[in-house]
Amino acid sequence: MTAVAIAPGPEDGRDEPRVSLVVPIYNEQEVLPLLLERLRGLLDGCAAGSEAILVNDGSGDGSWPLIVAAARADPRFRGLDFSRNFGHPAAITAGLDHASGDAIVVMDADLQDPPELVPKLVALYREGWDVVHARRSARQGETAFKKLTATAYYKVMAVLADRPPTPEVGEFRLMARPVVEALCGMRERHRLVRGLVSWLGFRQATVDFERPGRAAGSTKFPFWRMFRLSWDGLTAFSVAPLRLALVLGLLALAVAIPAAGLLLLGLGAGAGAATALLCGQLLLAGTTLVCLGLLGDYVGRIYDEVRGRPLYVVRQRLGLEPPRR
Ligand code: UDP
Ligand code: MG
Repeated sequence: MTAVAIAPGPEDGRDEPRVSLVVPIYNEQEVLPLLLERLRGLLDGCAAGSEAILVNDGSGDGSWPLIVAAARADPRFRGLDFSRNFGHPAAITAGLDHASGDAIVVMDADLQDPPELVPKLVALYREGWDVVHARRSARQGETAFKKLTATAYYKVMAVLADRPPTPEVGEFRLMARPVVEALCGMRERHRLVRGLVSWLGFRQATVDFERPGRAAGSTKFPFWRMFRLSWDGLTAFSVAPLRLALVLGLLALAVAIPAAGLLLLGLGAGAGAATALLCGQLLLAGTTLVCLGLLGDYVGRIYDEVRGRPLYVVRQRLGLEPPRR
């Protein structure tokens, strides 16, 4: 394990925290028995009052009955059941809204984020770090395509985003209560949680770990879902795609003005000139449509925000009170 400081070092130590584990769950019945067993072991080693909040994000399989049984057998397990599937970021947000611990850890259900790493995250929290990211130093059981696109995405974000997320870090991280309070106050709809955490600042540290493959079941993030999440992240933290319109417009002018000059001087007469004109028209029309599309995408996002619908709707709570905010 290596702890890498990416902010000024902390000065003060902290007491053993009550830990809240937040686990988003979508069709994970195959892995849930394994997960519950590993979480039980983890909670046994945590301070009294620690909890695991299992957020059922509209699963269509037997995940919710398994969560209900776990919560009835052991009150440290708490459950939230959504009215339908609202997506991974909404499920994380709901868990954070309801968490009561001093230190809150978000982790995936499929055991790709090993519960055994949590004590290491807690140790850094106790040293005074407010956010402790778990960074994937290696990834098992993931396709070369997924690894490549993930690396490329972080590179693009590093250039374009106002506050890029830490590379090779997903949503597996510990956050101190003040960080979670601030994060829950940000209710924007198109959420890339890791981007919001990066935007917040605080004292952030990183712990490396080798990410194992999924313990059971299959990925819930096929290519297009991953693409949508990535695009959400880019547009939420950058207006660079909108500026593309300006760049393309300038490029088009740079070509069009000399071409017009040549035509005026009578240097491009005949069929060739007509073809050139047509190509120029098509190029401009295509560019205009791309820019309109991008503009429309951002306008649509503004519309989503203005409607102000809730980020998620809860059907049932087990062992949890509705949050005060
Ligand atoms: N998940 C969710 N809602 C969704 C999709 C996924 O809560 O709409 C959960 C899923 O159950 C898992 C986590 O998000 O706990 C990460 O999903 P997955 O492991 O399938 O993603 P991958 O690791 O393949 O990127
Ligand atoms: Mg996974």
